[in-house]
Amino acid sequence: MVAASSVLAVVMAPSVTAAQLPIVPPGSARNGGAHGDPIRVERASLRQHGFAVTLQIRLTAPLRRSDLTARGRQLCAYFRGSTSSQKVVPVCLLRRGTGVRRRDGHGRLTIKHRDISLLLAYRSIGGHPGIFRWRLGTEDRACERTQGVACFTNYPRRTGRLRLVQPRAVGCQRHGSLVVTAAPAAAGKRIALTFDDGPGPATPRVLRILQRFHVHATFFQLGQEVRGHASLERRLLAAGDQLANHSYSHPMLPSRSQLRATSTLIEHDTGYRPCLFRPPYGALDRRLEDDARSLGMTSVVWNVDPRDWSTPGTRAIESRVLHATRAGSIILMHDGGGPRGQTVAALPTILRTLKRRGYQFQTVSQLLHYRTNLAPR
Ligand code: ZN
Repeated sequence: MVAASSVLAVVMAPSVTAAQLPIVPPGSARNGGAHGDPIRVERASLRQHGFAVTLQIRLTAPLRRSDLTARGRQLCAYFRGSTSSQKVVPVCLLRRGTGVRRRDGHGRLTIKHRDISLLLAYRSIGGHPGIFRWRLGTEDRACERTQGVACFTNYPRRTGRLRLVQPRAVGCQRHGSLVVTAAPAAAGKRIALTFDDGPGPATPRVLRILQRFHVHATFFQLGQEVRGHASLERRLLAAGDQLANHSYSHPMLPSRSQLRATSTLIEHDTGYRPCLFRPPYGALDRRLEDDARSLGMTSVVWNVDPRDWSTPGTRAIESRVLHATRAGSIILMHDGGGPRGQTVAALPTILRTLKRRGYQFQTVSQLLHYRTNLAPR
């Protein structure tokens, strides 16, 4: 028997073009027999977890080591996306390994007694939102010696179906430092662009420019401005930008209820609960840090400030950002709180130049390696 919780390599077999899942050769299918002993599935299910699916399999008997190493004896899962022309993607347990392969398209396989669990990114096996079909097939070629055909079993009897839905961000998980000014420069040329005091009239223009440059940013929003902007909030989130908390009405050292009200408004509009808080004026004390932490938020300040709120001119905003940005920088700009035409006008040059210098724009959550909570779970 295979040791409990051994972790094995999953090998993706090449795609095949069979129209049906799988793959029992007509006329040769036999469910076991005196001379063959295929692996048998007692039950199995497929579930979605964010951008991944988990296949849970219970066998009728524990797997033996020889099941994994014997030639011609195998257990494969077959997957196919929603259209009939979509290729069948087989994922086969082919051989014993010493660890999980980390390359794209490979999953994590765990075997414990009769139970097998396989976690795969659904895109790596041809999945996208819509109906996704799956089936298991086992094979034992020992039958060929005596009967001239291999032994096969399938589960379920008819193809299994799972409706994949687009995962939706519902929050993020803070960890580490309670106050962040920038990411460590050693973490590479990754930076975060942040916009404060919105949402406001300039926000849709900022969003369009970010999308044109395929860049994501973080929006630290005031609760009083979030009111009445539910559809804009959802557009920002759907575009991959991050929503974050900047208090309700921008007082110096806001109360805990200011923070809670803003997170509640954002969550009410979008289903997304922020894990980042930016103190108005960058002013923090121990009480405010603790309040933010008690609401699941890290306090985020910045290390690049072009003072765009003072409308110093488009060129000044551009050159201040371009001079000060380093690996790990968190850049402060504003999409609300006053006329933001200069900020909007400076954005294309800033984005184009920093991308040309090799910087990668990330949300603050990504910069800090926070986990995004996804639904469905
Ligand atoms: Zn502000």
